[in-house]
Amino acid sequence: MTETLTIALSKGRILEQTLPLLNAAGIELRDDPDRSRKLFLDTSDESVKIVVLRATDVPTYVQYGAADMGVAGKDVLMEHGGRDLYEPLDLGIARCRLMVAGQPGADERPGTLRVATKFVNITRRYYAERGRQVETIKLYGSMELAPLAGLSDLIVDLVDTGNTLKANGLVPLEHIADISSRLVVNRASMKIKHRRIKTFIDLLAAAVRPA
Ligand code: AMP
Repeated sequence: MTETLTIALSKGRILEQTLPLLNAAGIELRDDPDRSRKLFLDTSDESVKIVVLRATDVPTYVQYGAADMGVAGKDVLMEHGGRDLYEPLDLGIARCRLMVAGQPGADERPGTLRVATKFVNITRRYYAERGRQVETIKLYGSMELAPLAGLSDLIVDLVDTGNTLKANGLVPLEHIADISSRLVVNRASMKIKHRRIKTFIDLLAAAVRPA
């Protein structure tokens, strides 16, 4: 009997940009993720199932083995901590940068800086490593608004073209990390389904465009 493989993907740009890579690896979706309300999607390979999740839930599903593999942004993985996950492949998609941003010079203000972000773990780690005292404020969206509304001095957010920052009078101040989406694999699945997963990784790797 063929082993089942469950792959966790997140909605939005990662799903869109992962599908051509899966196609190149011989896996096509049978259900249209935009139309279907199903969260467990069938593929052209009966033994491969796709689950569509919120980005931040992908590492959790893979960590606990509810999915054998997943595709998640490096930002999400860094924030999650990546416990019990193998990260064998950089897919080179959904590239952007994780940056500290604010009004010009805002990072030079004296005293404890307030930093608004959805990446509180990354932010705390970043400033702890630099010995800088900050207060982190957890937000779930529209980070750019926080400095304008006087909620924070700085934000930590993903920046692609920089247009969102510019449109709100903010500038990138410090570069924290280059981000792209990664394939992650559950450690137990990697052992138990080794050949199957290794073949899949090799097919996917061949489809990835070099940086
Ligand atoms: P931009 O205006 O092109 O710099 O894009 C910035 C906005 O898009 C911010 O709200 C980011 O959170 C979001 N964003 C940019 N790149 C990504 C990405 N690769 N994944 C998820 N969100 C992103």
